[in-house]
Amino acid sequence: MFSFDSSVKEPEAFEQPAWWYLFQGHRLLVHADPSETNSLYQPFYEADIRSNWPEIKRIHFLGAKDSTPCYVAEIDRDLTLPAEVKTMSLRRLFGQMSKTHLGIAGRAIQILNWDRNHQYCGRCGTLTTITDDDRAKECPSCKLRAYPRLSPAVIMAVTHGEKLLLGRSSRHPQGFYSVLAGFAEPGETLEETVTREVFEEVGLDVKNIRYFGSQPWPFPDSLMIGFTCEYASGDISLTDSEISEAEWYSVDEIPAARPPAEISIAGQLIDWFIANNTIDR
Ligand SMILES: [Zn+2]
Repeated sequence: MFSFDSSVKEPEAFEQPAWWYLFQGHRLLVHADPSETNSLYQPFYEADIRSNWPEIKRIHFLGAKDSTPCYVAEIDRDLTLPAEVKTMSLRRLFGQMSKTHLGIAGRAIQILNWDRNHQYCGRCGTLTTITDDDRAKECPSCKLRAYPRLSPAVIMAVTHGEKLLLGRSSRHPQGFYSVLAGFAEPGETLEETVTREVFEEVGLDVKNIRYFGSQPWPFPDSLMIGFTCEYASGDISLTDSEISEAEWYSVDEIPAARPPAEISIAGQLIDWFIANNTIDR
């Protein structure tokens, strides 16, 4: 089980190496040759990296993984990197970096984005300062605090007997199907979000909404909250331009082009449906 001691209290001295999650834009710096680490890319494991990379900025202590300190920082977009270093997007690193490092990198980019996006107070425009007791940026003038943003989104497997509803998002390529998803609105319970999103996207009413699991999705700041639910009434009608196609699929009909369960809760929901509908055969 992945465990991480999140903290803003930085160790007083660099007595041991730390994991450094360095970003250039939204891409993580990794060692270019992963052959010595089971072909998995790794962030930097060094003591105070500032002596090698004097250009780094927006340094934030994230916490510790197994007592090893973890930091995030960024380097300028136009800085030329040495040949032994390359940058990769977090999406590309799925399956090519350990889940532990990928999980911490997902935290790291969200902390970095929060620092980048809240340099000035959103209320009065004063330059903000970082508080030392909490993950917050505070306006010295009006005291408004800005915390890292999380955007909760529901993702749901809608079943109808032995069939699962899959749709193709207009953002996805032809033939790529997944379960439905959508962002929570202010004032909604997550169950209300599930009901509203399914109705908006495909015109169906659902019942028996049950929590399934959750997954941080740092693109850029989502928290995906998974549910299962059952068809209650209605006919599929695509009123929302986000969904280009939607149809009921039995286990045997589920298209091969879909999100993999190893990296996404969407894939785990589809696998859950498959497992629940193949046991008795
Ligand atoms: Zn202010």
